[in-house]
Amino acid sequence: MNSQRVYNFNPGPAVLPLEVLLQFQNDIIDYKGTGVGILETSHRSPEFDEIIGSAEKLLREILDIDDNYGIAFVPGGAHLQFSMVPLNLLSPGKTANYVITDYWSEGALEEAKKFGNTHIAATNKDNGFSKLPSEIKPSADCAYLHFTSNNTIYGTQFHEEPKINPDITLVADCSSDLLYKKIDVKKYGLIYACAQKNLGPAGVSIAIIKKELLGKQSPNIPVLLDYNVYIKNNSLFNTPPVFAIYAVDLMLKWIKKEGGLSVIEKRNKEKAKYIYDALDRNPFYLAKAEKTSRSLMNVTFNLPSKDLEKKFIDEAEKNSLTNLKGHRLTGGIRASIYNAFPIEGAKKLAEFMDDFARMN
Ligand SMILES: *Cc1c(COP(=O)(O)O)cnc(C)c1O
Repeated sequence: MNSQRVYNFNPGPAVLPLEVLLQFQNDIIDYKGTGVGILETSHRSPEFDEIIGSAEKLLREILDIDDNYGIAFVPGGAHLQFSMVPLNLLSPGKTANYVITDYWSEGALEEAKKFGNTHIAATNKDNGFSKLPSEIKPSADCAYLHFTSNNTIYGTQFHEEPKINPDITLVADCSSDLLYKKIDVKKYGLIYACAQKNLGPAGVSIAIIKKELLGKQSPNIPVLLDYNVYIKNNSLFNTPPVFAIYAVDLMLKWIKKEGGLSVIEKRNKEKAKYIYDALDRNPFYLAKAEKTSRSLMNVTFNLPSKDLEKKFIDEAEKNSLTNLKGHRLTGGIRASIYNAFPIEGAKKLAEFMDDFARMN
Protein backbone atom coordinates (compact mmCIF):
# COMPACT_ATOMS: atom_id res chain seq x y z
CA MET A 1 0.00 0.00 0.00
CA ASN A 2 1.05 3.58 -0.71
CA SER A 3 2.48 4.85 2.59
CA GLN A 4 0.17 7.88 2.80
CA ARG A 5 -2.98 5.85 2.34
CA VAL A 6 -5.06 4.53 5.24
CA TYR A 7 -7.82 1.93 5.52
CA ASN A 8 -10.88 3.93 4.52
CA PHE A 9 -14.20 2.50 5.75
CA ASN A 10 -16.26 5.31 4.24
CA PRO A 11 -19.76 4.19 3.13
CA GLY A 12 -19.63 6.26 -0.04
CA PRO A 13 -17.90 7.70 -1.92
CA ALA A 14 -15.82 4.72 -0.94
CA VAL A 15 -12.31 3.38 -1.35
CA LEU A 16 -11.11 2.52 -4.87
CA PRO A 17 -8.27 0.13 -5.72
CA LEU A 18 -4.87 1.84 -5.71
CA GLU A 19 -4.07 0.54 -9.19
CA VAL A 20 -7.26 2.14 -10.52
CA LEU A 21 -6.34 5.45 -8.87
CA LEU A 22 -2.88 5.30 -10.41
CA GLN A 23 -4.47 4.73 -13.81
CA PHE A 24 -6.65 7.85 -13.23
CA GLN A 25 -3.51 9.79 -12.37
CA ASN A 26 -1.96 8.82 -15.67
CA ASP A 27 -5.07 9.26 -17.84
CA ILE A 28 -5.97 12.67 -16.41
CA ILE A 29 -2.89 14.11 -18.10
CA ASP A 30 -2.80 12.09 -21.32
CA TYR A 31 -5.40 9.50 -22.23
CA LYS A 32 -3.79 6.73 -24.30
CA GLY A 33 -1.23 8.96 -25.99
CA THR A 34 -3.81 11.36 -27.43
CA GLY A 35 -2.17 14.27 -25.58
CA VAL A 36 -5.64 15.00 -24.16
CA GLY A 37 -6.63 14.06 -20.62
CA ILE A 38 -9.74 11.96 -19.87
CA LEU A 39 -11.47 14.92 -18.16
CA GLU A 40 -11.04 16.89 -21.39
CA THR A 41 -12.12 14.13 -23.77
CA SER A 42 -15.24 14.57 -25.90
CA HIS A 43 -18.14 12.24 -25.28
CA ARG A 44 -18.41 12.02 -29.09
CA SER A 45 -14.78 10.91 -29.53
CA PRO A 46 -13.73 7.41 -30.64
CA GLU A 47 -11.93 7.11 -27.28
CA PHE A 48 -15.13 7.59 -25.28
CA ASP A 49 -17.10 5.38 -27.65
CA GLU A 50 -14.70 2.62 -26.79
CA ILE A 51 -14.95 3.32 -23.04
CA ILE A 52 -18.74 3.27 -22.84
CA GLY A 53 -18.93 0.28 -25.18
CA SER A 54 -16.43 -1.58 -23.00
CA ALA A 55 -18.27 -0.72 -19.78
CA GLU A 56 -21.55 -2.05 -21.17
CA LYS A 57 -19.94 -5.16 -22.62
CA LEU A 58 -18.09 -5.98 -19.40
CA LEU A 59 -21.17 -5.45 -17.25
CA ARG A 60 -23.13 -7.80 -19.54
CA GLU A 61 -20.33 -10.36 -19.36
CA ILE A 62 -19.82 -10.17 -15.58
CA LEU A 63 -23.54 -10.40 -14.73
CA ASP A 64 -24.66 -12.49 -17.73
CA ILE A 65 -27.09 -9.83 -18.97
CA ASP A 66 -28.85 -10.75 -22.21
CA ASP A 67 -30.30 -8.54 -24.95
CA ASN A 68 -33.73 -8.47 -23.36
CA TYR A 69 -32.21 -5.94 -21.00
CA GLY A 70 -30.93 -2.47 -21.76
CA ILE A 71 -28.18 -0.75 -19.78
CA ALA A 72 -28.38 2.95 -19.00
CA PHE A 73 -25.65 5.16 -17.55
CA VAL A 74 -27.67 7.91 -15.90
CA PRO A 75 -26.07 11.07 -14.48
CA GLY A 76 -26.65 11.63 -10.77
CA GLY A 77 -27.14 9.27 -7.87
CA ALA A 78 -29.67 6.84 -6.49
CA HIS A 79 -32.11 9.59 -5.46
CA LEU A 80 -32.68 10.36 -9.11
CA GLN A 81 -33.49 6.68 -9.62
CA PHE A 82 -36.05 6.96 -6.79
CA SER A 83 -37.92 9.39 -9.07
CA MET A 84 -37.24 7.65 -12.37
CA VAL A 85 -38.62 4.29 -11.23
CA PRO A 86 -42.21 5.46 -10.65
CA LEU A 87 -42.07 7.92 -13.54
CA ASN A 88 -41.24 5.07 -15.91
CA LEU A 89 -43.00 2.08 -14.38
CA LEU A 90 -46.03 3.28 -12.46
CA SER A 91 -48.96 3.41 -14.85
CA PRO A 92 -52.25 5.06 -13.84
CA GLY A 93 -54.53 2.82 -11.77
CA LYS A 94 -51.66 0.59 -10.67
CA THR A 95 -49.91 0.56 -7.30
CA ALA A 96 -46.21 0.85 -6.62
CA ASN A 97 -45.18 -1.62 -3.91
CA TYR A 98 -42.24 -1.00 -1.58
CA VAL A 99 -40.40 -3.15 0.94
CA ILE A 100 -39.28 -0.76 3.65
CA THR A 101 -36.05 -1.84 5.31
CA ASP A 102 -34.00 1.32 5.73
CA TYR A 103 -33.89 5.07 5.41
CA TRP A 104 -33.19 4.67 1.69
CA SER A 105 -36.23 2.55 0.88
CA GLU A 106 -38.33 5.08 2.81
CA GLY A 107 -36.86 7.78 0.56
CA ALA A 108 -37.71 5.77 -2.54
CA LEU A 109 -41.30 5.34 -1.33
CA GLU A 110 -41.70 9.05 -0.54
CA GLU A 111 -40.70 9.83 -4.12
CA ALA A 112 -43.15 7.30 -5.60
CA LYS A 113 -46.02 8.82 -3.57
CA LYS A 114 -45.69 11.94 -5.73
CA PHE A 115 -46.58 10.00 -8.85
CA GLY A 116 -49.35 7.55 -7.94
CA ASN A 117 -50.67 4.93 -5.55
CA THR A 118 -48.26 3.17 -3.25
CA HIS A 119 -48.37 0.23 -0.86
CA ILE A 120 -45.94 -1.03 1.78
CA ALA A 121 -45.64 -4.73 1.01
CA ALA A 122 -43.41 -5.46 4.02
CA THR A 123 -41.36 -3.61 6.59
CA ASN A 124 -39.09 -4.37 9.51
CA LYS A 125 -39.38 -0.94 11.06
CA ASP A 126 -40.94 -2.51 14.17
CA ASN A 127 -37.69 -4.36 14.97
CA GLY A 128 -35.60 -1.25 14.38
CA PHE A 129 -34.60 -2.47 10.89
CA SER A 130 -32.36 -5.16 12.43
CA LYS A 131 -33.95 -8.31 10.97
CA LEU A 132 -35.24 -8.39 7.41
CA PRO A 133 -38.91 -9.21 6.81
CA SER A 134 -39.54 -12.72 5.53
CA GLU A 135 -43.10 -12.28 4.36
CA ILE A 136 -43.88 -9.94 1.48
CA LYS A 137 -47.51 -9.06 0.76
CA PRO A 138 -47.84 -7.24 -2.55
CA SER A 139 -51.12 -5.49 -3.39
CA ALA A 140 -53.40 -6.83 -6.13
CA ASP A 141 -52.74 -4.21 -8.79
CA CYS A 142 -48.99 -4.17 -8.27
CA ALA A 143 -47.03 -2.17 -10.89
CA TYR A 144 -43.72 -3.32 -9.42
CA LEU A 145 -42.20 -4.36 -6.12
CA HIS A 146 -39.21 -2.27 -5.04
CA PHE A 147 -36.70 -3.45 -2.45
CA THR A 148 -33.25 -2.36 -1.27
CA SER A 149 -30.85 -5.28 -1.58
CA ASN A 150 -28.32 -3.93 0.92
CA ASN A 151 -29.31 -1.56 3.68
CA THR A 152 -26.27 0.64 3.88
CA ILE A 153 -27.17 2.43 7.10
CA TYR A 154 -28.46 -0.43 9.28
CA GLY A 155 -26.14 -3.07 7.86
CA THR A 156 -28.65 -5.67 6.72
CA GLN A 157 -28.70 -7.40 3.35
CA PHE A 158 -31.03 -9.65 1.37
CA HIS A 159 -28.82 -12.61 0.46
CA GLU A 160 -31.47 -13.70 -2.01
CA GLU A 161 -34.36 -11.98 -3.74
CA PRO A 162 -37.63 -11.59 -1.79
CA LYS A 163 -39.93 -14.50 -2.61
CA ILE A 164 -42.82 -13.18 -4.67
CA ASN A 165 -44.97 -14.28 -7.59
CA PRO A 166 -42.60 -14.26 -10.61
CA ASP A 167 -45.19 -12.29 -12.62
CA ILE A 168 -44.52 -9.27 -10.42
CA THR A 169 -41.90 -6.87 -11.74
CA LEU A 170 -39.07 -6.84 -9.24
CA VAL A 171 -37.14 -3.57 -8.89
CA ALA A 172 -34.00 -3.38 -6.78
CA ASP A 173 -31.94 -0.55 -5.39
CA CYS A 174 -28.54 -2.27 -5.38
CA SER A 175 -26.64 0.97 -4.76
CA SER A 176 -24.42 -0.46 -2.06
CA ASP A 177 -23.97 -4.04 -3.27
CA LEU A 178 -24.22 -4.38 -7.04
CA LEU A 179 -21.39 -6.73 -8.13
CA TYR A 180 -20.61 -7.96 -4.62
CA LYS A 181 -21.57 -11.38 -6.00
CA LYS A 182 -23.29 -12.83 -9.04
CA ILE A 183 -27.06 -12.35 -9.11
CA ASP A 184 -29.59 -13.73 -11.56
CA VAL A 185 -30.60 -10.62 -13.50
CA LYS A 186 -33.48 -12.49 -15.17
CA LYS A 187 -35.38 -12.37 -11.88
CA TYR A 188 -35.53 -8.58 -12.08
CA GLY A 189 -37.40 -6.01 -14.14
CA LEU A 190 -35.04 -3.24 -13.12
CA ILE A 191 -31.83 -3.02 -11.11
CA TYR A 192 -30.20 0.29 -10.34
CA ALA A 193 -27.16 1.43 -8.39
CA CYS A 194 -25.32 4.68 -7.87
CA ALA A 195 -21.63 4.17 -8.57
CA GLN A 196 -20.00 5.70 -5.51
CA LYS A 197 -20.28 2.72 -3.18
CA ASN A 198 -19.23 -0.39 -5.00
CA LEU A 199 -18.64 0.66 -8.61
CA GLY A 200 -16.60 3.85 -8.87
CA PRO A 201 -16.82 7.56 -8.05
CA ALA A 202 -19.98 9.67 -7.63
CA GLY A 203 -21.66 11.15 -10.69
CA VAL A 204 -23.30 8.24 -12.45
CA SER A 205 -25.81 5.48 -11.76
CA ILE A 206 -26.24 2.25 -13.65
CA ALA A 207 -29.72 0.98 -14.53
CA ILE A 208 -30.28 -2.47 -15.98
CA ILE A 209 -33.82 -2.62 -17.31
CA LYS A 210 -35.95 -5.18 -19.09
CA LYS A 211 -36.75 -3.61 -22.45
CA GLU A 212 -40.36 -4.82 -22.49
CA LEU A 213 -41.08 -2.55 -19.50
CA LEU A 214 -40.12 0.56 -21.43
CA GLY A 215 -42.35 2.89 -23.40
CA LYS A 216 -45.35 2.81 -21.05
CA GLN A 217 -44.65 6.10 -19.33
CA SER A 218 -46.51 9.37 -19.69
CA PRO A 219 -45.54 11.39 -22.80
CA ASN A 220 -44.89 14.33 -20.47
CA ILE A 221 -41.92 12.65 -18.85
CA PRO A 222 -38.84 14.93 -18.80
CA VAL A 223 -36.46 13.70 -21.44
CA LEU A 224 -33.55 12.88 -19.13
CA LEU A 225 -35.79 10.95 -16.75
CA ASP A 226 -36.91 8.54 -19.48
CA TYR A 227 -34.92 5.26 -19.44
CA ASN A 228 -35.89 4.77 -23.09
CA VAL A 229 -33.90 7.85 -24.10
CA TYR A 230 -30.78 6.35 -22.54
CA ILE A 231 -31.28 2.90 -24.07
CA LYS A 232 -32.00 4.26 -27.57
CA ASN A 233 -29.02 6.65 -27.51
CA ASN A 234 -26.43 4.43 -25.81
CA SER A 235 -26.57 6.86 -22.86
CA LEU A 236 -25.28 9.57 -25.18
CA PHE A 237 -28.39 11.72 -25.67
CA ASN A 238 -26.67 14.53 -23.80
CA THR A 239 -23.17 14.93 -22.36
CA PRO A 240 -22.77 12.03 -19.96
CA PRO A 241 -20.49 12.09 -16.89
CA VAL A 242 -17.47 11.04 -18.95
CA PHE A 243 -15.03 10.59 -16.10
CA ALA A 244 -17.42 8.60 -13.90
CA ILE A 245 -18.25 6.20 -16.75
CA TYR A 246 -14.55 5.84 -17.60
CA ALA A 247 -13.92 5.03 -13.91
CA VAL A 248 -16.73 2.44 -13.82
CA ASP A 249 -15.17 0.80 -16.88
CA LEU A 250 -11.83 0.59 -15.06
CA MET A 251 -13.57 -0.94 -12.02
CA LEU A 252 -15.23 -3.56 -14.23
CA LYS A 253 -11.84 -4.35 -15.80
CA TRP A 254 -10.41 -4.65 -12.29
CA ILE A 255 -13.13 -7.12 -11.26
CA LYS A 256 -12.45 -9.21 -14.34
CA LYS A 257 -8.70 -9.13 -13.73
CA GLU A 258 -9.16 -10.16 -10.09
CA GLY A 259 -10.92 -13.31 -11.31
CA GLY A 260 -14.55 -12.21 -11.63
CA LEU A 261 -17.41 -12.25 -9.18
CA SER A 262 -16.72 -15.67 -7.69
CA VAL A 263 -13.34 -14.43 -6.42
CA ILE A 264 -14.82 -11.09 -5.33
CA GLU A 265 -17.64 -12.81 -3.44
CA LYS A 266 -15.23 -15.13 -1.64
CA ARG A 267 -13.08 -12.19 -0.64
CA ASN A 268 -16.11 -10.19 0.56
CA LYS A 269 -17.18 -13.11 2.77
CA GLU A 270 -13.70 -13.41 4.18
CA LYS A 271 -13.50 -9.69 5.00
CA ALA A 272 -16.91 -9.65 6.68
CA LYS A 273 -16.06 -12.80 8.64
CA TYR A 274 -13.00 -11.18 10.24
CA ILE A 275 -15.12 -8.34 11.59
CA TYR A 276 -18.24 -10.34 12.54
CA ASP A 277 -16.07 -12.92 14.32
CA ALA A 278 -14.48 -10.10 16.33
CA LEU A 279 -17.99 -8.87 17.20
CA ASP A 280 -19.14 -12.32 18.24
CA ARG A 281 -16.14 -13.20 20.41
CA ASN A 282 -16.25 -9.85 22.25
CA PRO A 283 -19.63 -9.40 23.97
CA PHE A 284 -18.38 -5.86 24.68
CA TYR A 285 -19.68 -4.99 21.19
CA LEU A 286 -23.38 -4.96 20.38
CA ALA A 287 -24.08 -5.99 16.79
CA LYS A 288 -26.98 -4.07 15.24
CA ALA A 289 -28.15 -6.55 12.61
CA GLU A 290 -29.56 -9.98 13.47
CA LYS A 291 -27.22 -12.76 12.36
CA THR A 292 -29.37 -13.98 9.47
CA SER A 293 -29.72 -10.47 8.04
CA ARG A 294 -26.11 -9.37 8.31
CA SER A 295 -24.64 -7.37 5.46
CA LEU A 296 -21.34 -8.31 3.85
CA MET A 297 -20.90 -4.68 2.84
CA ASN A 298 -21.64 -2.60 5.96
CA VAL A 299 -20.94 -3.99 9.43
CA THR A 300 -22.74 -1.98 12.12
CA PHE A 301 -22.38 -2.14 15.88
CA ASN A 302 -22.52 -0.18 19.12
CA LEU A 303 -20.25 0.06 22.13
CA PRO A 304 -21.54 0.20 25.72
CA SER A 305 -21.56 4.03 25.72
CA LYS A 306 -21.32 7.01 23.38
CA ASP A 307 -18.06 8.03 25.07
CA LEU A 308 -16.54 4.64 24.30
CA GLU A 309 -17.73 4.92 20.71
CA LYS A 310 -15.97 8.25 20.37
CA LYS A 311 -12.83 6.82 21.93
CA PHE A 312 -13.02 3.81 19.58
CA ILE A 313 -13.26 6.06 16.53
CA ASP A 314 -10.42 8.31 17.71
CA GLU A 315 -8.08 5.44 18.51
CA ALA A 316 -8.93 3.60 15.30
CA GLU A 317 -8.03 6.76 13.40
CA LYS A 318 -4.59 6.74 15.04
CA ASN A 319 -4.20 3.19 13.73
CA SER A 320 -4.92 4.19 10.12
CA LEU A 321 -8.50 2.87 10.33
CA THR A 322 -10.61 5.80 9.21
CA ASN A 323 -14.25 6.82 8.64
CA LEU A 324 -15.78 4.28 11.04
CA LYS A 325 -18.42 6.63 12.40
CA GLY A 326 -21.99 5.36 11.90
CA HIS A 327 -24.61 7.24 9.88
CA ARG A 328 -25.78 10.49 11.46
CA LEU A 329 -29.27 8.98 11.98
CA THR A 330 -28.16 5.90 13.85
CA GLY A 331 -24.79 6.67 15.42
CA GLY A 332 -22.56 3.83 16.55
CA ILE A 333 -19.87 2.30 14.38
CA ARG A 334 -20.13 1.30 10.72
CA ALA A 335 -17.38 -0.42 8.78
CA SER A 336 -18.10 -0.33 5.04
CA ILE A 337 -16.10 -2.97 3.24
CA TYR A 338 -17.12 -2.93 -0.42
CA ASN A 339 -15.35 -4.80 -3.22
CA ALA A 340 -12.31 -2.54 -3.33
CA PHE A 341 -11.70 -2.61 0.42
CA PRO A 342 -8.59 -4.73 1.11
CA ILE A 343 -8.65 -7.90 3.24
CA GLU A 344 -5.72 -6.64 5.32
CA GLY A 345 -7.84 -3.67 6.45
CA ALA A 346 -10.64 -5.95 7.69
CA LYS A 347 -8.12 -8.10 9.52
CA LYS A 348 -6.52 -5.04 11.07
CA LEU A 349 -9.90 -3.74 12.27
CA ALA A 350 -10.71 -7.13 13.83
CA GLU A 351 -7.40 -7.08 15.73
CA PHE A 352 -8.01 -3.51 16.81
CA MET A 353 -11.47 -4.52 18.08
CA ASP A 354 -9.97 -7.31 20.20
CA ASP A 355 -7.37 -4.95 21.67
CA PHE A 356 -9.86 -2.19 22.31
CA ALA A 357 -12.31 -4.52 24.08
CA ARG A 358 -9.52 -5.90 26.28
CA MET A 359 -8.29 -2.45 27.31
CA ASN A 360 -11.72 -0.99 27.95
C1 LIG B 1 -26.24 5.75 -0.78
C2 LIG B 1 -27.52 5.12 -1.10
C3 LIG B 1 -28.55 5.84 -1.71
C4 LIG B 1 -28.45 7.32 -2.00
O1 LIG B 1 -27.57 7.56 -3.04
P1 LIG B 1 -27.37 9.03 -3.65
O2 LIG B 1 -26.48 8.73 -4.83
O3 LIG B 1 -26.70 9.86 -2.61
O4 LIG B 1 -28.69 9.57 -4.06
C5 LIG B 1 -29.70 5.16 -2.03
N1 LIG B 1 -29.84 3.85 -1.77
C6 LIG B 1 -28.87 3.13 -1.16
C7 LIG B 1 -29.08 1.68 -0.89
C8 LIG B 1 -27.68 3.75 -0.82
O5 LIG B 1 -26.71 3.03 -0.22
